[in-house]
Amino acid sequence: MVKIERLESELSEKAVASLEREKAKASGSYNTPEVNEALQDMFYGKCYICENKKVTSWQIEHLVPHRGNKDLKFSWDNLFLSCAHCNNIKNDRFEPIWDCTKEDVDEHIAFRKEGYFGKDEKYLFSPLDDAIETQNTCKLLNEAYYGSTTQKQVEAKFIRKELRDELGRFKNYVRDYMYETGRTKDELLCTIRSELSASSPFAAFKRWLIRDNDKYAELLNCWK
Ligand SMILES: [Zn+2]
Repeated sequence: MVKIERLESELSEKAVASLEREKAKASGSYNTPEVNEALQDMFYGKCYICENKKVTSWQIEHLVPHRGNKDLKFSWDNLFLSCAHCNNIKNDRFEPIWDCTKEDVDEHIAFRKEGYFGKDEKYLFSPLDDAIETQNTCKLLNEAYYGSTTQKQVEAKFIRKELRDELGRFKNYVRDYMYETGRTKDELLCTIRSELSASSPFAAFKRWLIRDNDKYAELLNCWK
């Protein structure tokens, strides 16, 4: 989970207008084409919780559960793009979590992969402060990446496979950059910047690979 700016755009304006129209109806829906289009655009087609992009089932997630409250239900600032797996897990639990459109979540939580080829691999979410939002977000991330029911555990395995593949690719770019093999340094730096940006899948894990390795200190400002 990384910060995604809630920027105003033509699409977001249309989404807000559609939410106002729906809110005025007796049984309106926040699930409008305009809202879906604007959320896909704003969140770069990526689930804000697990950061996976290879998703076939999308849902609109309310950061603060609306529980029938019309203001929360139709507020653009409360709507997030989530995969069905994560939306289902979060539901109305884990309250409150960090608002990733306002907070740099990867500065509150360390996203790490432990173990390597032949060893048990484990993804860890370590709180870096005592905020209740940090604790709850860690719990949510743990369930998103590992699941708690049998079905969710199977779904989580697919997400972790994507994550592992993405991290493997990313590590190769960084190695090539450091050892100056393959493409030119400038080209690789451009790729690495894009891999570390908010739009990239699993950016929180990629950023922590850089943070955790002094050798890569020169890449620390790539996402700032
Ligand atoms: Zn997800």
